[in-house]
Amino acid sequence: MAPRSTQVAVIGGGPGGYAAAFLAADLGLQVTLVDAEPNPGGVCLYRGCIPSKALLHVAKVIGEARQAREWGVTFGDPQINVDALRTWKEGVVGKLTGGLGDLCRRRKIDFVQGRAVFRDANALIVRTESGTEEVVAFEHAILATGSFPASLPNLGADSPRILDSTAGLALPDIPESLLVIGGGYIGLELGSVYAALGSRVSVVEMTSGLLPGVDRDLVRVLSRRLKERFDAVMLETTVTALQEESQGIRARFEGHGATEPEQVYERVLVAVGRRPQTDGLGLENTRVALDARGFVQVDPQRRTHEPTIYAIGDITGEPMLAHKAAHEGRVAAEAITGKKTAFEPQAIPAVVFTDPEIAWCGLTESQAKQQQRDVTVARFPWAASGRALTLGHSDGVTKLVIDPETQRVLGVGIAGSGAGEMIAEGVLAVEMAALASDLSLSIHPHPTLSESLMEAADVFFGQSTHVYRPPRAR
Ligand code: FAD
Ligand code: NAD
Repeated sequence: MAPRSTQVAVIGGGPGGYAAAFLAADLGLQVTLVDAEPNPGGVCLYRGCIPSKALLHVAKVIGEARQAREWGVTFGDPQINVDALRTWKEGVVGKLTGGLGDLCRRRKIDFVQGRAVFRDANALIVRTESGTEEVVAFEHAILATGSFPASLPNLGADSPRILDSTAGLALPDIPESLLVIGGGYIGLELGSVYAALGSRVSVVEMTSGLLPGVDRDLVRVLSRRLKERFDAVMLETTVTALQEESQGIRARFEGHGATEPEQVYERVLVAVGRRPQTDGLGLENTRVALDARGFVQVDPQRRTHEPTIYAIGDITGEPMLAHKAAHEGRVAAEAITGKKTAFEPQAIPAVVFTDPEIAWCGLTESQAKQQQRDVTVARFPWAASGRALTLGHSDGVTKLVIDPETQRVLGVGIAGSGAGEMIAEGVLAVEMAALASDLSLSIHPHPTLSESLMEAADVFFGQSTHVYRPPRAR
C-alpha cells in the first residue's frame, strides 16, 4: 500500500497540536493530525482545563450561595445530583471537542484517530483504533503529545480509591473524606471542587507553602480561605505509605505539619506534577533530544535537533499551560512556512482557578528577589475597592512589579475573584512595555475590579485616590 503523505503531520491533538494544525492549514499547508481520541482536544479539553473549570464554576456558585447568608439571603444546603453534574460537565466537553472535529473537517485537515510512532525523520507509523497500521510520510512533523500525571509508586497501595487528576475529574462519587497529595494547581483546584460538593478535604504539601514558586502575598489570600474550607493543610509534610483497608486508604505522614501520624481517608488524590509524554514515540529513530528532566529540547522556533521535527506544548517543558502550548503551536506552524518568527513571550500568564483566583504574569516579586533585581512593588488592596466590597471579596490584592528607573511594568500579580480575566490587561501591559503612567492614565470603568490595576499604578506614584501613600515624581 502506498504511504499516505502530507506536508505537515501533527502528533497530538491538544491545545498545542490543534492550534498548530489549524494555523498550518490556514496558511495553505496540507495537514494530517493524529490523536488517540475521536476528536481533537487533548488533556485540556478531555481531562484538564475544561472539565475542571466546569466543576470549579459549580464550586463557586455553592460558595457564593453560602456567603449570601452574610448579606441577609439564606439558601438551604445544596442538593447535589452527581449524575446530572457529571452529565453536564461531559456535555460541555462533548460540545467543545465535537466543535474542534468540525473545524478540522472544514479546514480539510486529515484527522486520523490512532497512535503515532516515528519510523524515521520523514515518516510515522500510525496504529489506528481498529488495529491497522499505516505509514504517513511527512515533510515536517510537529510533536505535541503533552504530559501525563506523575505518580508516587513507592507508597505501597495500588487501589481504585487512589485517584489521579483524570480519575478525580471523572467524578465517580463524592467521598466523605479526601486526602489530596500535592498543594499545587491541581490539588487546590480539585480539592476545592470536592470540598464544595461536601467532602472533608485534607491537603498534604511537601514544601513550606501552597503553590510553591508563587508570590506569598498572593497565596496568603487563598490560604486564609482554604483554611476555612479544608479540614487540614499539612505543610512540610510527605506521605510515607498508603495502605488499603476496608474503610478506605490509611495514609502515614512524616513532617512538621502532620496533624496525626496516620489517618484513613475514603479516597486519595495524587497531584504531584506532570511528566512529558515521550515514551513509545520512536524518538530513538530520530535525532530528537531530551533534556535532563525528559523534556524535548527545542530552539526559539520550536525546532528539535531533527530539522524536520518541531515540538510544542507540555512536552517541551514549563510552564505546562494550554495557552503556552497553543502559542508555541502557532510559532511552529509559521516557522514551517518560512516565516521569521520565534517563541519569546515577555509574559505567559498563569491562573489558579480557585476561589479566590490567583493570577500573575511577567516578572514576579520572588523572581526579582532571586535575581537581585531592583524593583518597586505597588500594591492596591481590594479593601479600598468599591466593586470588591459589593462582591464580598475585599480580601484581594492587585500588585504591579515596576522598574523604578524606567517606570516600566515588568510583572503583575492579582489575588481575588476574577483575577484570571483581569490578568490579560497585565499581559498586554508587559508585552507592550507599558509604563506605570500608561496604566494610571487609562480610564478604567467604575465600579470594576479592573480599576485596581489603574489604582496600583497610582499607588506607585503615591497618588491613588483610595489609598494614601507619600507621593513620588512622575
Ligand atoms: P495535551 O493537551 O496533553 O495533548 C496531547 C495529546 O496527544 C493527547 O490528546 C494525547 O492523546 C495525544 N497523544 C499522546 N501520544 C500520542 C501518540 N503517540 N499518537 C497520537 N496522539 C498522542 N492549563 C491551562 O492553561 N489552564 C488550565 O486551567 C488548566 N487546567 C488543567 C487542569 C488539569 C486537571 C490538568 C491535568 C491540566 C490542566 N492544564 C491547564 C494544563 C493543560 O491541560 C496542558 O498544559 C495542555 O493540555 C498541554 O497541551 P499539549 O497540546 O501540550 O498536550
Ligand atoms: P504542581 O507542580 O502545580 O504541584 C505539585 C505539588 O505537589 C507541588 O506543590 C509539590 O511541591 C507537591 N509535591 C510533589 N511531591 C510531593 C509529595 N511526595 N508529597 C507532597 N507534596 C508533593 O503540579 P499539579 O498540581 O500536579 O499540576 C500539574 C501541572 O498542570 C501544573 O504545573 C500546571 O502546569 C498544569 N495545571 C494548570 C492549571 C491551571 O492553569 N489552572 C490547573 C491544573 C494543572
